[in-house]
Amino acid sequence: MKVGLVGLPTVGKTTFFNLLTNAKVETSAFQSGKINANFSLARVPDERVDFLAEVYKPKKVTYAQIEVIDIPGLVSGASEGKGSGNQFLDNIRKVDCLVHIVRAFSDESILHPEGSIDVIRDIENIGMELLLADLQLVETRIERIDAGKKITKELTAEREVLQKLRESLENEIGLSDIELSEEEQRIIEHLDFLTVKPVIIVINVDEQQLAEGYESREKILNYCKEKNLPAFEVSAKAEAEISELDEQDRAVFMKELNIKESGIDLLARAIYEKLNLISFLTAGEDEVKAWTITRGTNAKAAAGKIHSDIERGFIRAEVINFKDFKECGNMVKARELGKLRLEGKEYIIQDGDIINFRFNG
Ligand code: GDP
Repeated sequence: MKVGLVGLPTVGKTTFFNLLTNAKVETSAFQSGKINANFSLARVPDERVDFLAEVYKPKKVTYAQIEVIDIPGLVSGASEGKGSGNQFLDNIRKVDCLVHIVRAFSDESILHPEGSIDVIRDIENIGMELLLADLQLVETRIERIDAGKKITKELTAEREVLQKLRESLENEIGLSDIELSEEEQRIIEHLDFLTVKPVIIVINVDEQQLAEGYESREKILNYCKEKNLPAFEVSAKAEAEISELDEQDRAVFMKELNIKESGIDLLARAIYEKLNLISFLTAGEDEVKAWTITRGTNAKAAAGKIHSDIERGFIRAEVINFKDFKECGNMVKARELGKLRLEGKEYIIQDGDIINFRFNG
């Protein structure tokens, strides 16, 4: 799973990126004019994996992972030729979800590119930049089709859909709000538009705001709710500093700063919810591992996540949900108590199921 961090310059994107991935990319109080993106992996914390690792003491423990891409700050008005443009947006065309970092913290030594702090304005401006980037993509593609010598049935159909998108985008309607038939969606799938992607808002606050709240908080959260944008707060800088401490001190400071859940916990939960994902687990002496699947996946398809041979030779899935497992403490006890179920290929996997697939190899 891939996510792309977007936002204006100096809102704390790279600070948040470092926090998520334990990377050590340099942050800067100034708009640095950098044009390269940062890529790294974030480990999704999962206490079920921790527990299973304690029980099985496996050779390898594998948590779910999120690939995070931090692109340089988007410049408002770039699509009208301001700055060096937003060409690095291509780096995030393949992501599953966009994470938009907005700045609520006030710090006079860090210049906000718009000159003042206004979270809702920034959410709208970045939304507009993504929309304009899509419009540009549509126009480039239409020009290319028109300039081409070949006029195939496929290209004519694509041009028709693109024209429809152009009209909506010109009226500031993003792709997620345009009604398209399945056929139309299929036709434009190869173009990787940005405004179809789910967006999560991360509000970067300072320690004081986190502890005491701040004036516009209610308004921002209501706005996000209205727009159906999942949103949560982090104090990226404070949390990054705390994460350098040893575990005991970390817990003390987290409590002191009123940080109930870490940035990665909050982000992972928001992504899983927004993208309708769940995890199932496999456990043994070799490896304990969390697997990410879409809610509603059946046992046979879930087996295919591990290996196509297991899907092909699928016989049955031996299943126990983590909650039951935890109560039993180990598999021997769970078996004794009859908590393990044998399920067929149509069984719908539930979040936290621990599964042992039986298959003809
Ligand atoms: P980016 O340009 O969006 O990637 O922003 P950076 O992560 O480089 O951060 C810009 C500046 O803001 C750096 O000097 C950070 O240390 C600072 N910063 C980030 N988060 C916070 C915060 O929560 N509070 C304060 N006071 N400064 C922050």
